[in-house]
Amino acid sequence: MHCSTRRTLARVPDSIPRADQRAEWIAGEHRATTHPDTHVHYDLPGAAFVVVAPEGGDAR
Ligand SMILES: [Zn+2]
Repeated sequence: MHCSTRRTLARVPDSIPRADQRAEWIAGEHRATTHPDTHVHYDLPGAAFVVVAPEGGDAR
């Protein structure tokens, strides 16, 4: 179960090359700085990888 309350930090369209790797790289940058719980979701309807930071609670 992924976090229900979260902030979107970045979106990487699935159409670009190695979109998943780019999204993970961006997540790593945020993890190293201000948002240690940053991780990547996949937005199926939007066909995009979404870099998110959970806000409140600890569900992810
Ligand atoms: Zn999550």
